[in-house]
Amino acid sequence: VLSCRNIRKVFGDHVVLDDLSLDVGEHEVVALIGASGSGKSTLLRCVNLLAEIDDGTIHLDGDEITDPRVNPDLVRQRIGLVFQSYNLFPHMTVLDNITLAPTRVHKRAAAEARETAMAWLGRVGLADKAKAYPDRLSGGQQQRVAIVRALVNNPRLLLLDEVTSALDPELVGEVLSMIRDLKGEGMTMVLATHEMGFAKQVADRVAFLDAGRVLEQGPPEQVLGDPTEARTRQFLARII
Ligand code: ATP
Ligand code: MG
Repeated sequence: VLSCRNIRKVFGDHVVLDDLSLDVGEHEVVALIGASGSGKSTLLRCVNLLAEIDDGTIHLDGDEITDPRVNPDLVRQRIGLVFQSYNLFPHMTVLDNITLAPTRVHKRAAAEARETAMAWLGRVGLADKAKAYPDRLSGGQQQRVAIVRALVNNPRLLLLDEVTSALDPELVGEVLSMIRDLKGEGMTMVLATHEMGFAKQVADRVAFLDAGRVLEQGPPEQVLGDPTEARTRQFLARII
């Protein structure tokens, strides 16, 4: 589904992604772990074309999306991205928040967009919140709405950047369980997370980023339980 080849991203003289390569297969869930500043968010932003890479290529289903002739809006229709802060528009209802992008940006019929949105809200148990404004929802509900908003275009790939780290601990579970359900439905996902327990549960593969490179990757049991690299061991020792 996704193939990142030799990606380099610099901010000024700071190399943030350094010759990074990463592949993600169909239905695969890859967890990105690594210290703060290792480049996890930057990588997700580059894949979604929110940041421009300085070298390398990114392919989605065989199409080079980093080709300058590619329309970023069309790519973002195929790749959903959800941030730590859910970024819902406070002055719009849940339903309007979800259907804004499909109806305005992609010119899809409004009725069709509403139907898809209601179906998703129903699946995640939030149908009764469709007409509510975000401030009447818990943080966990708001984050689930933000994920639904990323799903209504039927993306090929869902990118999740620390989607539970802004939540109160008692609200984390409902968002994690939604992500587990999406995995069960075969959604291909790349998620940056500081929660090793969750990475272990949901990821098919864990990739450890260190100074803008994938230092090691493999099954969660191996990378988290018996890492090859000393730096991975140090990182895990620090956070546990
Ligand atoms: P965290 O775990 O804290 O979320 P991260 O792995 O997501 O960290 P990034 O946010 O990708 O790390 O940041 C990688 C590096 O790039 C950091 O040193 C950061 O300061 C730098 N950086 C990110 N965005 C910008 C920007 N727009 N301008 C300049 N530097 C940036
Ligand atoms: Mg980050």
